[in-house]
Parts: sequence; structure tokens; C-alpha cells
Amino acid sequence: MISIQGLHKNFGELEVLKGIDLQIEQGKVVVVIGPSGSGKTTFLRCLNALELPSEGRISLDSTAIDLSEKVSGKQISEFRRLTGMVFQSYNLFPHKTALDNVTEGPIVVKGVGKEEAQRKAKVLLQKVGLGEKVNEYPFQLSGGQQQRVGIARALAMEPKVMLFDEPTSALDPELVGEVLKVMKDLAAEGMTMVVVTHEMRFAREAADEVIFMDNGAIVEKGKPEDIFKNPKEERTRRFLRLIG
Ligand code: ADP
Repeated sequence: MISIQGLHKNFGELEVLKGIDLQIEQGKVVVVIGPSGSGKTTFLRCLNALELPSEGRISLDSTAIDLSEKVSGKQISEFRRLTGMVFQSYNLFPHKTALDNVTEGPIVVKGVGKEEAQRKAKVLLQKVGLGEKVNEYPFQLSGGQQQRVGIARALAMEPKVMLFDEPTSALDPELVGEVLKVMKDLAAEGMTMVVVTHEMRFAREAADEVIFMDNGAIVEKGKPEDIFKNPKEERTRRFLRLIG
């Protein structure tokens, strides 16, 4: 589903990703953990073409668009359409209702008719437990509800892969569970997901593979039970000790 080869990303002199190789199969949930500044967000943004790699290739799905500095704007938007991104800060349109936040992408980017977009958006909002909130504005919703609108909005574009960038970090602790539940349901339905998170319990329970990143590289990867119970690398052990 996703193939990443020799991915490098520099910001000026700073080398943030130092050669990442990874294959992700369809339907798998990959959780990326690691210290702050290790390049997790940049990695995820490369998968969504929000950042273009300095070197290396990413191909996604059978369309196999290869992403490097030389791709056209059209290829980038095609690539981006295959992925749905959920941000830490929700990034909803504040002046639009939950429903309009979800229909915006399909109508504007995909040219879906308004009625059809609304019908599908209602189904998605129902699915994330917000069937009663379709006409509310973001300021009328809790952080957990806003983030669930964010997930519905990403799903509305019918992506092949969902990318989550610390989706629960901005939430009050009591609201984290409702968002993780929606993510677990999605995983159980077979959605391919890449999740950057500090929620180790989610990683333990939902991940097929856990990737430990440090200093712009993958230090260790494996099944959650191996990474958490029996990490091979000293850097992984130290990180897991620190986060307790
Ligand atoms: P993480 O998600 O693991 O905390 P990031 O990917 O956010 O790590 O950041 C990795 C490094 O890249 C940091 O040193 C950060 O300051 C730097 N960085 C991220 N984005 C940019 C940017 N747009 N311009 C310059 N430096 C950046």
C-alpha cells in the first residue's frame, strides 16, 4: 500500500529525516513513537505531500505516484487525495457547521453534488458519534467532538490511508478515550493508518507495528509486544523508561 525508500528531508542545513525505508501493507495500523524533535511529524507530512522529500521515493497504492522534488502540482494533489490527515489542532473551519466542514472537501475538491455530499457527511458524522451535532459550529463542540469532526472530514474524501498527527495531544484527558475509540473502530474496519501518538496504550492495543524514531531515523520497529516488553535497542529502552 505504501512504500517508502531512502526518504530524506532537509530544512536548509538541518537534516530532519536521514533515510527512512518502510513498507506498509493494506489494512495495517502503524504507530510512530519517539522523542520530541525526532522527525515524526515531518515524516507524516511527507506521506501527505505537505512536505516534499529532499531525496527518496514514496509510492502509495496501485496508482504508485512517486514523490520527489520533480513532481507536478497535479501529481501532488492526486497523491494528497489518497491520504486523509487528522491534525493535533483539528484545523476545522470556525465559521462552518460540523456538516459543512465535512462536505467542503468533497464539494470543492472532488466536485460531488451538495445533496450527495451532505448525505454521506451525515453518515460519517453518525459513525463518529456526532449524529446529533451536524448543525453545531466548532465553538459549540468539545475538543473531542471537534477532533471527531476532523476525522469525519478526512474520511469524507475516501482516502486509502489515514494519517494522524498526535490527534489527542491537545485534548483534556477525559476526552482522549472517545477519539481513540473512533480510531480503533476505523482500524477494526480495515483502514490503513499511520498514527503519531504519545498514547502508548493505543499503540499496545491497536498497532500492528510500532516504529520507534529518534534523530530522524527508524531505530527499531516491531510488534507492540516486542517493542514494549522486549526492546532490542538501548535508545528505545531509555525512551520507554522516560515516558514510564
Ligand atoms: P517530532 O514530530 O518528532 O517532534 P518534527 O518533525 O516536528 O519532530 O521536527 C523535527 C525537526 O525538524 C525539529 O528540529 C524541528 O524544529 C524541525 N522542523 C520541522 N519543521 C520545520 C520547518 N518547516 N522548517 C524548519 N525546521 C523544521
